[in-house]
Amino acid sequence: MIDIQKRENDRRPVYGVFSNILYMVRHALEVPQVLWMLAVQVAADVMISVTTLYMAPAFLGRIESHASLRELVAVIAGFSLALVFLNAVSAYCRINRDTARIEVRCNILREIDRKKGTCSYSLLYDQAFQDKGLSAKYAVNNNAAPAEKIWQTLHQLLKNIICFGIYLSLMANVKPMLIAVTIGITAADFMVARRFDRWDYGHQEESVRIMRRDRYFYNSAKDPRLAKDIRIFGMQEWLWDIKEDVGRLRRNFLRRGGRNTLLKNGLETLLDLLRNGIIYAYLLTVTLQGGLSAAQFLLYFTAATGFTGQLIGILSGMTELNRQSMELSNVREFCETEEPFLLEGGRELSLGKGKTCEFELRDVTFRYPNAEQPVLEHFSLRVSAGEKLAVVGLNGAGKTTLIKLLCGFLDPDSGQVLLNGVDIREYNRQDYYKLFGAVFQEFSILAATIAENVAQSDTPDMERVKSCAEQAGIRERIERFPGQYETKLGKSLYPEEAVELSGGETQRLMLARMLYKDAPVMVLDEPTAALDALAERDIYERYNGLARGKTAIYISHRLASTRFCDRVILLGEGRILEEGTHGELMERGGKYAELFEIQSKYYADTKQ
Ligand code: ADP
Repeated sequence: MIDIQKRENDRRPVYGVFSNILYMVRHALEVPQVLWMLAVQVAADVMISVTTLYMAPAFLGRIESHASLRELVAVIAGFSLALVFLNAVSAYCRINRDTARIEVRCNILREIDRKKGTCSYSLLYDQAFQDKGLSAKYAVNNNAAPAEKIWQTLHQLLKNIICFGIYLSLMANVKPMLIAVTIGITAADFMVARRFDRWDYGHQEESVRIMRRDRYFYNSAKDPRLAKDIRIFGMQEWLWDIKEDVGRLRRNFLRRGGRNTLLKNGLETLLDLLRNGIIYAYLLTVTLQGGLSAAQFLLYFTAATGFTGQLIGILSGMTELNRQSMELSNVREFCETEEPFLLEGGRELSLGKGKTCEFELRDVTFRYPNAEQPVLEHFSLRVSAGEKLAVVGLNGAGKTTLIKLLCGFLDPDSGQVLLNGVDIREYNRQDYYKLFGAVFQEFSILAATIAENVAQSDTPDMERVKSCAEQAGIRERIERFPGQYETKLGKSLYPEEAVELSGGETQRLMLARMLYKDAPVMVLDEPTAALDALAERDIYERYNGLARGKTAIYISHRLASTRFCDRVILLGEGRILEEGTHGELMERGGKYAELFEIQSKYYADTKQ
């Protein structure tokens, strides 16, 4: 465990600083304002710095040489006008650059969201991918995040580097040894900062883990879906205790981070004192020995202060850039995570009319990441074209997992899922999904109109929407809404106009959506879980008609619903325990018959 922790904490970013700068520049080419404003502002700021450096010594030099008042006024006016102009240019860039920088950041944010929205489904179970996604989001989620702040760092850094060059050539006139000492100590300063900054990056995963737990308990405590249970079961205290524990972990982590920063700042301050002491002592000695005039002293004194400032600016800029680069590397690593599924290219999947779909799970073993036991082990199943298959079994038997494997949401650890004899991994997964119309246990209602939800498009074919609503048994309900099919769903987005559908109504709407898609394979995972007994029977009576000509796979907790299926499989212990028609299984008098008898006691209407 300690080794794993240590390994995680020693993790290094995949992409280096230059590579990440280039990455940002590539994005900025889409919004060129970012780049040219950066260049103009750097140029203006360098000129401001140099003008300011020479202004006082130039004036003092004129006084020393008893220049006329006119000349003095001209010098001051010249410098002042130049400064006014340069400051105006710099301010213009500062005020107008932000919108463009935000646009670049939002483009990167979209890239992250696209990856999240379109990645292989199996990556949703990959904790490392999820954590990387969270770290990536931190790099772009506000104006102070590296994807926007990096321009400011680059601006400061470029300005400091150019000024440093100018000041360096000036200081070289005094004593090259002094420059060497200054650079040496400042470089040591930089190494110290770098060494300590690695701590932050190395502990990012630990930080993400703590924050994830913290957020989970924070969200749970205010989740309206849990509000009833929290109150009924008195879960407040329990949740509060867990939250306190996580809070302690967080505070402890922040304290460790704080100690790291304190030590870093202390060392940096000591080095700063040493460097400045040497510069000032040397300049004062030379001046007191009469080696420098007052104007020269002022010039070198200002240059020495500036020179050190530029150097610190460069080094802290590089430290900052290094830190930002590490975070940007997270974005790239996340977006470039290899897809386990074939999402581009792949074997062509012909979906034309008359094409039949025969599925086979051949010797499939599947275990969820971090789970101890496989859900399915050396599991084989063939689903013929046009077959109506019911999958039943106790909770946790693996029914949903079987459907996820069949639909291509998960790939087996060993064995194959085949479509018409071809491993589905050879097909483009997006094409493969086109084969399925489905109603899953978790509903995915979008904040849009009822018609759009059924059609999954903003240009629904209204006749078809109505016919599907009719078949799903929800037409009458929809037509009672004043807005009918244009009625909005999604209270979170449309708090005033949207309507709230009951669980059963939503399930019927999902059924209508599945019918609208008219895919060759129907998958229904507990499609009646939210329906009352009458509504459930009503739906089952419709199924035969709905599934005509299609392959249909039903998961059901209600064994009575399997009677119209061609075949029933009873899952358990990672395999098929029994299979046959409802009648055959009842006759056999095995586990299925036993479960059916128990259920029938609770559903008198289905006992025949
Ligand atoms: P069923 O649909 O028959 O109720 P599932 O296929 O949902 O069963 O689950 C089968 C087993 O896999 C259960 O033991 C469940 O706890 C486990 N399981 C389901 N999802 C996950 C997951 N994401 N991670 C780990 N284990 C899981």
